[in-house]
Amino acid sequence: MHILLVEDDDRIAAALRPALHRHGMTTTRLARGRGAVDHLAGVDVVLLDLGLPDIDGVDVCRAIREVSEVPVIVVSARGEVDDRILGLHSGADDYLVKPYDVGELLARVHAVHRRRRVTAPDAAAGGDLVVVADVSIDLGRHAVTVAGAAVNLTRKEFQVLALLAAAKGAVCTRSRIVAEVWGRTWAGANRTLDVHVATLRTKLGRPELVQTVRGVGYRLGLPDTPVEPDPPAPGGGD
Ligand code: CA
Repeated sequence: MHILLVEDDDRIAAALRPALHRHGMTTTRLARGRGAVDHLAGVDVVLLDLGLPDIDGVDVCRAIREVSEVPVIVVSARGEVDDRILGLHSGADDYLVKPYDVGELLARVHAVHRRRRVTAPDAAAGGDLVVVADVSIDLGRHAVTVAGAAVNLTRKEFQVLALLAAAKGAVCTRSRIVAEVWGRTWAGANRTLDVHVATLRTKLGRPELVQTVRGVGYRLGLPDTPVEPDPPAPGGGD
């Protein structure tokens, strides 16, 4: 599990990170709130201090929510009840008061992560396994097999495929895929997505599985989904 720790207090960060690492987690620490949304890629849970030097943690939380469904646990100084209400209204999943017990923090981290996974669209759609012809996509275990052989995908490639698999043949727009997989958008986002889809198709060896819906996005080519052929090149003919 990868944790984004947004915390300006060096002592808290220095105490917390080894504890998280001991429990098998990896961390990225930011001492400022501005730009936190640019660090959401691959993050499973955000630990967000409300009292940051450059920007209110509540605004950071809102900014995160605009681009990502990643679970956010807001951390604040003791007794700031108004902050608690604000934190939850700004889209935080849970709230913790400093000083907190690391064991309690870990329990909350696991809880929000589990809850988010359970309520995520892929799980809600029923079953963690999507099977299309001889391609099997295990959304829970992050494993893909083609004709029984494991396919080694990068994290991003898998996330793109998992998103399409969870949509069960419905079109996923480019902007949605970019927002959910990368947690942000940027000028070259479409190109990056195209490159990931291209390598995904190559690795799977099933080019018809990930279908282009021109001008919109991509979808999974389920067996009962009519295949939409790419339009003929200008000047080309049958
Ligand atoms: Ca602080």
